[in-house]
Amino acid sequence: MERTAFRTCPLCEASCGLEIEIVDQRVKRIRGDRSHVMSAGFICPKGSTLKQLYEDPDRLRTPVIKEDGHHRPASWEEAYALIADRWGQITDQYGRDAAAVYLGNPNAHQFENSLALRPLIKAMATKNVFSASSVDQLPKHVSAGLMFGHPLSIPVPDLDRTDYLLMLGANPYESNGSLCTAPDFPGRLERLQERGGKFVVVDPRRTKTAAKADRWIAINPGADAAFLLAIANAILEERPALADHLRHRVDGFDALPDLVAPFTPEATAAFTGVDAAVTRAVAKELAKAERAAVYGRIGTHTVAFGTTASWAVDVLNVITGNLDRAGGAMFPYPSHIGSQRARRPFVMGRWHGRVSGRPEIIGELPVASLIEEMVTPGEGQVRMLLTLAGNPALTTPNSAAFEEALEGLDFMVSVDVYLNETSRHADVVLPPPSALERSHYDLAFTGFSVRDYADYSPPVFETEAASEFEILVRLAAIFSGFGPEADPDLLAAGALTSAIQAEVQRGDSPISGRDPTEILEALGDRPWPERNLDFLLRIGNRGDHFGAVPDGLTLQKLEGNPHGIDFGPLLPRLDQVLATASGRIELTPEAIISDLPRLAQAVAQGRNGGAMLVGRRQLRSANSWTHNVEVLMKGRERCTLEVHPDDAERWGLVHGEKALVASAAGKVEVPVEITADIRPGVVSIPYGWGHGRLGSAMKVAAAYAGVNVNFLSDGSIDPISGNAVLNGIPVTVGPA
Ligand code: SF4
Repeated sequence: MERTAFRTCPLCEASCGLEIEIVDQRVKRIRGDRSHVMSAGFICPKGSTLKQLYEDPDRLRTPVIKEDGHHRPASWEEAYALIADRWGQITDQYGRDAAAVYLGNPNAHQFENSLALRPLIKAMATKNVFSASSVDQLPKHVSAGLMFGHPLSIPVPDLDRTDYLLMLGANPYESNGSLCTAPDFPGRLERLQERGGKFVVVDPRRTKTAAKADRWIAINPGADAAFLLAIANAILEERPALADHLRHRVDGFDALPDLVAPFTPEATAAFTGVDAAVTRAVAKELAKAERAAVYGRIGTHTVAFGTTASWAVDVLNVITGNLDRAGGAMFPYPSHIGSQRARRPFVMGRWHGRVSGRPEIIGELPVASLIEEMVTPGEGQVRMLLTLAGNPALTTPNSAAFEEALEGLDFMVSVDVYLNETSRHADVVLPPPSALERSHYDLAFTGFSVRDYADYSPPVFETEAASEFEILVRLAAIFSGFGPEADPDLLAAGALTSAIQAEVQRGDSPISGRDPTEILEALGDRPWPERNLDFLLRIGNRGDHFGAVPDGLTLQKLEGNPHGIDFGPLLPRLDQVLATASGRIELTPEAIISDLPRLAQAVAQGRNGGAMLVGRRQLRSANSWTHNVEVLMKGRERCTLEVHPDDAERWGLVHGEKALVASAAGKVEVPVEITADIRPGVVSIPYGWGHGRLGSAMKVAAAYAGVNVNFLSDGSIDPISGNAVLNGIPVTVGPA
């Protein structure tokens, strides 16, 4: 029997539509869905490997429990009973903060996880919540929260209409964009050039994206904040006025020239490595472009001045008049968001870490502080860890110390499809189904999309296995004291009923005053995640409001449009977005302004001339998720040390032979790849590698192990956001 299924790819933020041919219940071929409203047939090499990920013999199909140092298969009942038992012992003896949870970023790619996580975390009632956000994009959430009032109010470049894009620390030719959902990002950049526009890439490496750019600026690692403020300085020298549409919506504009005064293009040149004339030329182009946007991504975030750089990106979007207008930097409007939501102003520091006192941000503590929370004795010491779809042993700083700390835990649970570098330490591993066995809607990434759209895909294959939603609900039940045998359906029904009751009681809800029973019945008998999703869509800004808007959006409507529904280009919506206490854009938030002297000091000190390490994106890697897929791993060795020819000569390195790279935290040996496509003085090792660890069970990954670059990161943070510093790490390099 043959059939074709359409499914959104969950492997990266581009969220491409896939067309999947199935013969006799096996995947025959996966290619890009040419009718998909956003991706129009685009696909990268990873997208077609959902087949291999589904069929992977190493993928766990049943829970496993660790006994005498080895994992053995177990029943779900046995696994949940053990978790309930150990949870009870540990939290009764040491309190709730003795349990910590780490959320990997695949959670953001699965709507059922997003729905279940909040009740799960609430049930744990611990302050020790950590996630991949603090090794990735937390600075952007903080700057958005401080400037616009909500950490998810992140403007994205209006790629399809802009004339000029200044892009820092991003390599969409390899990664297809992040905090900017734009399938076929490369094609969109090429069309920008075809219509006479330009894009400029700022990166220490001449990435694939930089090679295609109209201008590549080989900046020093970690210097983006100073470079961006130097551009602001040059633009403000001309004393521009705010654009009309922003004039009455911005606080702090008058103070800005004095604040950026120390950061002239000339004063910052030695620190950034960018000639003042180049900085001034970019400032001129940006200010003069009819429609322009500035976009910064991971290379600007995972550095010591990450929040300042994130803020400076949007300062430039504001002062050039490009925020919230077509072709500039705009705010997407996902369909599951209501139109009338009052939002609470953004706050940080509602609680603090036990050891270093780091403040909570968006409900989390920095993962760079998880090691100290695990190893420092005393009340509140973390003794139990739950990891959900994450591999922090590879992706968080100071990996050697991290793994040692995991070994010291009393108990550890992982929800993961593999026994990987992290879950190998777990006492219990609970495996969710593979992507093709689960439905998909993008709750997270439609919020960063360059066009407003929605799509939904049902599971390609049915499975008897527990859904991840069920796993998370059952864990929440255990942590709430309902025990290992609680009925997940009852709990899910209770949670949805409560959400409906709260909604009908809201004065600003489109279903205010309606009968909750009628609303619940209207959601039918789909699986609980789908009922929750339908509820959000129907009360959302394009929803049918349960019959009040006859043509409005419902899940049923999305099911009838398997290639998605396009709602068109982004529209200006600043008034809806702003949630600051003042109701205006806060251009000079105190938390950032008060840290500018630290940047000024770093600029004044300049560089010491030593080598600096940066990471890099690779087309065939999605972090470490796809490293057990042979078709993606084969070929030339990709976990290498990129080094400039001048440096190779200086340090006595030979192409293909191993170098020893050492930092304050550790050292690794890695094959040398000599290339002129990197700034002298900078070396690069990709992240997500370092497989083949004892007790892991990923045969392909082990065969292409590579080294874990996080043996070299030492846990330094950007002090405003707490985000880990993973780029710009001082290292020494020599032959191994
Ligand atoms: S670009 Fe991302 S979403 Fe698209 S096919 Fe590749 S991995 Fe999947």
